[in-house]
Amino acid sequence: MGKAVFIARDVVQGLVDYARHLHPEEGILLLRGKLSKDRIMVEEIVIPPFASRGRAFSSFPLFTLPMDASIVGVAHSHPSGHLKPSPEDLNNFYGRIMVIVGYPYRFEDVAVFNRDGEPVKFEIL
Ligand SMILES: [Zn+2]
Repeated sequence: MGKAVFIARDVVQGLVDYARHLHPEEGILLLRGKLSKDRIMVEEIVIPPFASRGRAFSSFPLFTLPMDASIVGVAHSHPSGHLKPSPEDLNNFYGRIMVIVGYPYRFEDVAVFNRDGEPVKFEIL
């Protein structure tokens, strides 16, 4: 996709904290930020407007998401620790990037993927 991805440090911290809190259930969060010609900056976490607790990502109800141009992607946790999107994840891709936080939820367990499921390099700011 070619855009450089930057994620605010407190967003990464929030993602790992949320994932740890919900473990062993899977958590889902929306990512809000700014999109420009050559970069995506993730600035904020938004808790989705539905109870995501314990839901599998495959049952993610996309129709309940706000039509909000500032949502640049979705983050969810993988309690299995598997740091790759599943086919269901890719079928439910929303926004520009997908962030997966794998067990045991350290900063290095955070990965970013594009719509094709390919890993995207990112920088924590
Ligand atoms: Zn997943």
